[in-house]
Amino acid sequence: MKKRLLALAMALVLFVSVLPLQANAVKGGKLVALTFDDGPSATYTPKLLDGLKKRNVKVTFFVLGQNAKSNLGIIQRAYNEGHELASHSWNHPDLTTLSDSEVLWQLRATEDVLDQVCGKNASYLVRPPYGSTTSRVESLINAPMAYWTVDPEDWKYRDPETVRRNIVNNTFDGAIILVHDIHGTSVDGALRAIDDLQKKGYEFVTVSELHRRRGATMDKGEWLYSVKPRGVDVGSIAKPEITYTTDGKTMTVTIKSASGAPIYYTTDGSVPTHSSAVYKGPFKVPYSSAVKAYAAFNMNGVRSELASLVYGQGNRGSAPKIKTSGGKVQMETANTGTKIYYTTDGKTATPKSTAYSGPVALPKGIYIHAVSAGGYYSTSPETVVYYSPRGVLLADVRPGAWYFNYIDRLAAEGLMNGMGNNIYEPGTNVTRAMMAKLLYEYSGESLGSGWTRTNPFTDVDQDEWYAAAIEWAYRNKIVNGYGNNRFSPNGNITRQEMSAMIDRMFTYQGNSLPRGASCAGKFADYGRIEKWALSNVEALVAAGLLEGDGKNIEPRSNATRAEIAAVLCRAMDY
Ligand code: ZN
Repeated sequence: MKKRLLALAMALVLFVSVLPLQANAVKGGKLVALTFDDGPSATYTPKLLDGLKKRNVKVTFFVLGQNAKSNLGIIQRAYNEGHELASHSWNHPDLTTLSDSEVLWQLRATEDVLDQVCGKNASYLVRPPYGSTTSRVESLINAPMAYWTVDPEDWKYRDPETVRRNIVNNTFDGAIILVHDIHGTSVDGALRAIDDLQKKGYEFVTVSELHRRRGATMDKGEWLYSVKPRGVDVGSIAKPEITYTTDGKTMTVTIKSASGAPIYYTTDGSVPTHSSAVYKGPFKVPYSSAVKAYAAFNMNGVRSELASLVYGQGNRGSAPKIKTSGGKVQMETANTGTKIYYTTDGKTATPKSTAYSGPVALPKGIYIHAVSAGGYYSTSPETVVYYSPRGVLLADVRPGAWYFNYIDRLAAEGLMNGMGNNIYEPGTNVTRAMMAKLLYEYSGESLGSGWTRTNPFTDVDQDEWYAAAIEWAYRNKIVNGYGNNRFSPNGNITRQEMSAMIDRMFTYQGNSLPRGASCAGKFADYGRIEKWALSNVEALVAAGLLEGDGKNIEPRSNATRAEIAAVLCRAMDY
């Protein structure tokens, strides 16, 4: 029994190891190689690249060396986006009319330009101009030569629709199509043909990839025409997987390739080329390095999608945090390896500003601006806080705002907490539970632990952060709830509800507000004050604690944090 189990396990291992190849081999969709000659063109090739990117199509560019040299950025982009770069000579002569040394120069000069993009000694397919060669010329071309099997004669028919039709009508599975990216009509026609052929199930690959996928060889001096289906498709190359571990100073990087293809990688943020390092096992790099990798059988056109692990480089990270402690200002950043720079004169902070080196006593009544920068990070977003005369750091409350003094004062006295990072959200609504908690804290009283519940509110859970505050407010007749045994702790508190709670708080503390002064006629929306809250609202208005906007008192509007801070501060002074 044990032996049989072992045999089964081994069969399973074998099966798993051959599975990727098997799965790909049965896929076998329709493949086609689109090629573009005579470019790159500064006008049309970028437009073509945009169209190819949108359609996720890879093609082969047979460039003229002289055009490539003057449009290096364009062929760099083509390479970066996974297209194959190939040679079509330096300036399109009929090679058969040239001497041996002239032919060799045409080829070598073009390769030198392509090497600037693909890396030293990469290999390139060659398409002799006009497809014209002799055995003498062929012996000089030290590369496979790419012919074509579909020729839409796009250079003759300067009409996108004719180009599209000529391509679509003549394309077959395994074909190599010839187009020129130096004519706008050719580019438009080719993109339309791609749309049609993709609908018919064609997958577009580079010339070299077409051969690899179907297990066809490409030998030096051999002419390539097409690769018809031969019952094999080894599938595209899986994108490598990059993982890392770190001790905070270095990263140990591991790269895995499911396809078994060699992995080329860089650690400086550049796109890997034929000249890049080849992965041999886990390696160490400084923390925050950018690692990019391809799995490739040939970096020029026979490779996976780009895998990248960019930790920081080009990454702004997060803005610094600013706190106060013991009368000093402290700054912190989460961006490893960076420094914090700050200003106290109201100007934007940059890496040229004062470097933060530890807790610092700063004058009050100023703006502090801070950024973090350095290491592999670019300059972070800026943190800006006002350091108030009371010593409060305020990120979203500015001197000059009508509520500035109220929020600053409550924050300084510990009665209003920020929402984190010195944010006070003056315009945010306050829930009924928050209001109860605010008054509970303001009272300075405490139910202690193990208090017994007396309130009837079925929607106030005993475990919630506001349970004690609501119990305290209920016991002291500061809150009544809505009847029906409901309190609605998470509902926003209205201005009339707030008025009622403040008024009752005064009563509870033995200080009553003035009674009997009607504010009928004072506010246009007087009639909107609900009966139960009328005496509360009128008492607060008479005492000068609650103000309208000059016209309305807005009894049913939600009270904001700024409005509650204002009423509470006035109540404290009353
Ligand atoms: Zn040509």
